Amino acid sequence: MEVENEQLKSIALGPSHPTPTDVGDMYDQTSDSLTDMLGGYIHVGYWEDPNKYETPEAAGDQMTREVGNRLSPAQGEHILDVGCGTGKSAAQIATTFDVHVTGITISKQQVELAHSQYARKTQAGQVDFQFADAMDLPFEDASFDGAYAIESLVHMLDKRTALAQIASVLRPGSRLVITDLVADHPSPESPVLARYDQVFDPPLVSADELQNLLRQAGFKVIDVTDIRENIRPTSKLFETKGLSVGGELGQKLLEFASILEQMNELGYALITAERL
Ligand code: SAH
Repeated sequence: MEVENEQLKSIALGPSHPTPTDVGDMYDQTSDSLTDMLGGYIHVGYWEDPNKYETPEAAGDQMTREVGNRLSPAQGEHILDVGCGTGKSAAQIATTFDVHVTGITISKQQVELAHSQYARKTQAGQVDFQFADAMDLPFEDASFDGAYAIESLVHMLDKRTALAQIASVLRPGSRLVITDLVADHPSPESPVLARYDQVFDPPLVSADELQNLLRQAGFKVIDVTDIRENIRPTSKLFETKGLSVGGELGQKLLEFASILEQMNELGYALITAERL
């Protein structure tokens, strides 16, 4: 009966995708391994020269710099980090630009790690971390001077709601910078995408679709840069870690490594937008 109900539900609602709670549970269990692999971050690295060796931390730092430079906040401003992981990007941006960064994440474990690792390393009050869902941000309207989302929208099925929420807490004229994996031609016929969809959920969207969603949420898109070549060397980090951790997580990391190597169909977008 249970199975039948589940089947009926999925016919009525379509296939079920991970909820924000599911995403938080996944990060509660994997953040240690992921930050260990990615130099303290949970985002891919940026290689200025993809043929030159960089440590995972240096490549991760460079990605954060790419975001910070596009956001370019003025001293003392209040910035929102949507999906802050364990807080390393927030700490870097807060100290580089002398701004205040509030990070939110759907993982309780990440809030604790972020507090213990970065709240004390930065000046008092320069960063703070909260458990919150991007679908329902617990902040006043227009209370931030800028925001960024590094590889967090990719987890959200309802990107429209997330972007509307971010728009409402940003003051007009402020910036939002997004980095995410995107699909060139999201279609069930694409073999790489079909593989991605088997292991990861929700399905990827295209950079064009993200831009349309941004415009509908009240943003003007200022710049879109495809940096797939700069992030590709990250696949080696996933491969090495995947082989060493094994199990279900290891399998996922290996799968992701091989997907990243086929970036001819997958892109990586760095998008800068302005709240109108
Ligand atoms: N930006 C961080 C972490 C990226 S991992 C870094 O670069 O290191 C993805 C992050 O998105 C995680 O912190 C996860 O908790 C967060 N996330 C995913 N869905 C979310 C949601 N609905 N609300 C808030 N955070 C979310």
